[in-house]
Amino acid sequence: MERSIKFQEEHKIFRDVFRRYLIKEVEDNYTQWEKEGIIPREFWKKLGDNGYLIPWADEKYGGSGADFLYSVIICEEVARAGYGSIFIGLHNDIVSPYIDSYGTEEQKMRWLPPCIKGEKLLAVAMTEPEAGSDLASMKTRAVKEGDSWILNGQKTFISNGIISDIIVVAAKTGGSDVPAHRSMSLFVVERDTPGFTRGEPIKKIGLLAQDTAELFFDDCRIPGDNLLGEEGMGFIYLMQKLQQERLICALGSQAAAESCLEITKEYVKERKLFGKPLSKFQNTRFELAEMASELAVGRSFIDDLINNHIAGRSVVQETCMAKYWICEMSGRVADRCLQLFGGYGYCTEYPISRFYLDARIQTIYAGTSEVMKHIISKGMGL
Ligand SMILES: Cc1cc2nc3c(=O)[nH]c(=O)nc-3n(C[C@H](O)[C@H](O)[C@H](O)COP(=O)(O)OP(=O)(O)OC[C@H]3O[C@@H](n4cnc5c(N)ncnc54)[C@H](O)[C@@H]3O)c2cc1C
Repeated sequence: MERSIKFQEEHKIFRDVFRRYLIKEVEDNYTQWEKEGIIPREFWKKLGDNGYLIPWADEKYGGSGADFLYSVIICEEVARAGYGSIFIGLHNDIVSPYIDSYGTEEQKMRWLPPCIKGEKLLAVAMTEPEAGSDLASMKTRAVKEGDSWILNGQKTFISNGIISDIIVVAAKTGGSDVPAHRSMSLFVVERDTPGFTRGEPIKKIGLLAQDTAELFFDDCRIPGDNLLGEEGMGFIYLMQKLQQERLICALGSQAAAESCLEITKEYVKERKLFGKPLSKFQNTRFELAEMASELAVGRSFIDDLINNHIAGRSVVQETCMAKYWICEMSGRVADRCLQLFGGYGYCTEYPISRFYLDARIQTIYAGTSEVMKHIISKGMGL
């Protein structure tokens, strides 16, 4: 099916080059990175050296001023290769936009260039042990003291939690008299700030090479000018960036699910039982036909949203639908594909097992499916 996105020749070349780059740099190393539970810093540095980090940033910060389609291609290629633990979309398209949109010129000059070079890595810390879906109930608090802010609290499930150097942290700054949506601010906490510590990497069932960790702020003193944007605007800033964050999640899920179908198609043609290829059994054909149909629906939808996003339109509601439906569909596809591999699908040697485990998170982070449905139903005027 022809995609509705108008990729130019240079986009196609870029995709091809980046795809080969991933094979060369990642294929032989990924299993080791999964064992170590982290993507090595050297790899991030190489990504930066090759211009794959924050490519959309302005040239004055060291970016290429690339359009959003380059971000789309990078995320799609990482997902379709099954390297879900490489959270390049988090660094490129989820966290850095906070700095770019709300940072002062001085802050951008300070933080963006090392992130574009891959010398410094990004994370965003919103979730707390008792504030996940219900973000407004967060307890982490920042209090102004002279020229500094004193941060106290705890965050959990933070992706890049161990490796990150620059962390955008959401904290309460308003008193009880301030409405919830005006009582949160965003701060940048840098590695080695006194009072900032990290827990051990959290052990997860999937995304094994992704370092997810708890962060602790214990009278953590950060310079006054590490406040990002205006005091009290944190919640609104987070909401403003959610369209892109959820779009990135959904488009990665779509690409990963398409890849599951491709590898399964190949497998069922090769695998023989009862004297014929598995692909010749009606169940297999119907399974694959159903999945191909769902994927075609997802593809049209996500590409339409990408086009709208690039055109600067607000598609918040539709993006919630895509985040909900495509991420759920991607999980179903990974599960049904694994089933067609039989026992081999349950073995880590077969990439389908990794797709299956990595897909599971997609309906949980960046807003759970239930939260998406809550937002969608609210938008329906219910
Ligand atoms: C691997 C991983 C990486 C992550 N990365 C980050 C990160 O980088 N930064 C960050 O800040 N956070 C991150 N998170 C946190 C993630 O965003 C939260 O886990 C998620 O928002 C859900 O919050 P919770 O875990 O507290 O679940 P809860 O909010 O406790 O939800 C529990 C259940 O209740 C349901 N529920 C919630 N609200 C409603 C409702 N209104 N109606 C009905 N049911 C509801 C949920 O859908 C869920 O099924 C990550 C999580 C994981 C596991």
